[in-house]
Amino acid sequence: MATVYNWQLKRDMAYLYEGQRPKRQIAYVFDTNKCIECQTCTVACKTTWTSGKGQEVMFWNNVETKPYGCYPLRWDLKTLELLGEQSWEGETYTGKTVFEAAPPGERVLGYRPEVEDYASPNLGEDVIAGLVEKGAFFQGVHQVWMFYLARICNHCTYPACLAACPRKAIYKRQEDGIVLIDQSRCRGYRECVKACPYKRVFFNMVTRISEKCIGCYPLVEQGEQPRCVQTCIGKIRLQGWLSAPEAPRRDNPIDYLVYVRKVALPLYPQFGLEPNVYYIPPVHVPRDFLVQMFGPGVDAAIAAYRAAKDDPELLGALLLFGNTPRIVTSYKVQDQQAIGYDEAGREVVRVPFQEPVYIRPYFDAERGVYRHNIT
Ligand code: SF4
Ligand code: SF4
Repeated sequence: MATVYNWQLKRDMAYLYEGQRPKRQIAYVFDTNKCIECQTCTVACKTTWTSGKGQEVMFWNNVETKPYGCYPLRWDLKTLELLGEQSWEGETYTGKTVFEAAPPGERVLGYRPEVEDYASPNLGEDVIAGLVEKGAFFQGVHQVWMFYLARICNHCTYPACLAACPRKAIYKRQEDGIVLIDQSRCRGYRECVKACPYKRVFFNMVTRISEKCIGCYPLVEQGEQPRCVQTCIGKIRLQGWLSAPEAPRRDNPIDYLVYVRKVALPLYPQFGLEPNVYYIPPVHVPRDFLVQMFGPGVDAAIAAYRAAKDDPELLGALLLFGNTPRIVTSYKVQDQQAIGYDEAGREVVRVPFQEPVYIRPYFDAERGVYRHNIT
């Protein structure tokens, strides 16, 4: 075992290989407050990559309703139960990661889901946390809640799937940090399926090898955001590049949201993989539930998010979501507009803080028709 630094845990930890961050790291920010669980992302991914034989219950992207939704079945609870009770001291994780808690002779603490665990991708969908008492909705705020959690591979800095593979068939690309499975090396041992605590590697029953999200690398190589990001109806997603933790760039929207403003948090950082999908936590969900899921930064993240309307730099970064297919590598705020640039410094998106309102005439003389919707 080597010793690597995990910035999300604020400490060194054990990992099978020497820590070597890629030249740049693909990263995403998902705003859970905006997701409507329309599953457009799920369908976009499915029709693009996993519509073949043996891929029937394979969802590289899925969206589940918390607290009860889970795909595969109880993926998060099972891993949390295996890990047992652990703790944070302030922002430092003092518990064990899935690498440090691995049983003797194994590289990662994990479990392999049963075939049946993949049978119900929509289990718990739209199920709320408790019963709504008769008339409770008349009293305004009540304690019954749910939220939608969109999930893809986290293209982790320290991938458990990669560490567990005895064939060294899984690799992390230097140029973008995307984690891929070499299909010609994989022999279907499913150690990766067992090791990934997010259960983002799937076994193809027909080809007998493992498959996972490829970060839409053919798009990313062209400077375009992945399919699930481009198609998101709720505009909850932004994909870009995360700088090394010691060198955040304030003009990089991903760095700004993750490192500077700390409004977006990793999913189950305590597992120790340094996952690179960052979530803006839902503002209406009980704090304890969120802390076990996103770590100790929850209160500060929600406070910053709630104040975004008075924080032009943050508002500007949030307005880039879903407004361009291109990858935004830098941005600025000017004249009440958020302006995003691609890697070559070209402007690719400009979003006003306030949408202009156009009032059109009730009678359109040019077309000789009446309009009933004039705004
Ligand atoms: S497309 Fe966007 S809004 Fe719809 S379910 Fe997916 S992440 Fe949520
Ligand atoms: S989320 Fe799972 S499959 Fe994706 S890189 Fe991390 S360990 Fe591997």
